[in-house]
Amino acid sequence: MSKKFGQNFLLPRSVRERIVSQMGDIEGKRVFEIGPGLGAITSIMLEKGALVTAFEIDHGFASILRNEAFLDEENFTLVEGDALKTMRGESEIPSLIVGNLPYNVGSVMIADLIERGFLPGRMVFTLQKEVVERMCASPGGKDYSSFSLLSQLDYVPSLSFTIARSCFYPEPNVDSAVVVMEKKSEKAIADDERARFFTLLRALFSQRRKTIKNNLSRLVPDKERLSEILFKAGLDEKERAENLRLEDIIRLLRSF
Ligand code: SAM
Repeated sequence: MSKKFGQNFLLPRSVRERIVSQMGDIEGKRVFEIGPGLGAITSIMLEKGALVTAFEIDHGFASILRNEAFLDEENFTLVEGDALKTMRGESEIPSLIVGNLPYNVGSVMIADLIERGFLPGRMVFTLQKEVVERMCASPGGKDYSSFSLLSQLDYVPSLSFTIARSCFYPEPNVDSAVVVMEKKSEKAIADDERARFFTLLRALFSQRRKTIKNNLSRLVPDKERLSEILFKAGLDEKERAENLRLEDIIRLLRSF
């Protein structure tokens, strides 16, 4: 086992089953699993008839999965390597993406999927509880950040249940929670607006304590023009990004 890959294994079968139950009916559906480890969640998904493509970085685990654990399992496909890179080789979007994600890279993986528009109907992740709280946060609260808006652009994320540290081996020093991300039925923005939306989001939250006008001044150096844009979007220049709702930011995007 190696610490650098964030390996904490989920032990109780009841908890692993509860996670799989959040995925809905997976029989015959293509599921991508990030970080299968030794197959704790994978095995239950396969029992339920899912077609699993698993992305594992650890060479030792990959060979156990491939040559022993799921050797005769025709519904199991393994892709060895860093999921951040190897998933880019997949052109077909699966029904679900799931994973008990390594704490150090969980939010990076989710942001990457959303930023490049690789969006299955549902995603179910086990993450550090604070990360899940940030994903589900509402405007104005202490947990609300650009990551909340990123998570809520295409999905409705909800904290499904928490998992005690004692359920993992080795025991991590953070609490965990399961987040279910349900894709919205309608797109909030058009595909050709996405890149500009993410640029705007990064600029708005570049310095938390500053006003939106201040944070946007690098994007729009002309102060008068910036005031016009904010006025057109119906936003107060002294407002802070942490109070903006998704629809405010979309209005702002379109007033440029
Ligand atoms: N799914 C197993 C479980 O629930 O017991 C293991 C979960 S463990 C928290 C995270 C897993 O992700 C490990 O197997 C680790 O090797 C793998 N991993 C870490 N970084 C990865 C990456 N960049 N790409 C693919 N897998 C990764």
